[in-house]
Amino acid sequence: MADIVTAEQRSRNMAAIRSRDTKPEVYLRKLFFAKGYRYRIADKTVPGHHDIFLRKYNTAIFVHGCFWHRHQNCKYAYMPKSRVEVWQKKFNDNVRRGKIVQDELQARNIKCLIVWECTIKKMIRDSTMQKELLAQIHSFIQDMHNTKFCLY
Ligand SMILES: [Zn+2]
Repeated sequence: MADIVTAEQRSRNMAAIRSRDTKPEVYLRKLFFAKGYRYRIADKTVPGHHDIFLRKYNTAIFVHGCFWHRHQNCKYAYMPKSRVEVWQKKFNDNVRRGKIVQDELQARNIKCLIVWECTIKKMIRDSTMQKELLAQIHSFIQDMHNTKFCLY
């Protein structure tokens, strides 16, 4: 049987394939690379679908979409108007999975850095903010004795 795919279907397929490299992740990777960090995109030995793994600093970095991961008090974490219960269940599952991954990372002494998508949008727009956040991230990553395990 012939493999017939409409143009619309094809573009949808392509979008699905690209979803692992959505813009904020790519931006953050490029920024980290430019700052001299060397990383893996996905280290299979580390729990969770992190976006960057810094082996040298034993830190997994996650870019969290505000909508999917329910960023509190964020305008992007709105509630859809229809099928509220279905959405609520999806959101709860996402948040619960995220927590499980964090517990697994902590059990293995791997630090976890969550960067919200809206934070990255601000970093892209505002270079002062970019500097401040990078400094904050840098000190979190470098500090081997920090009591804080997970930075948001
Ligand atoms: Zn947000």
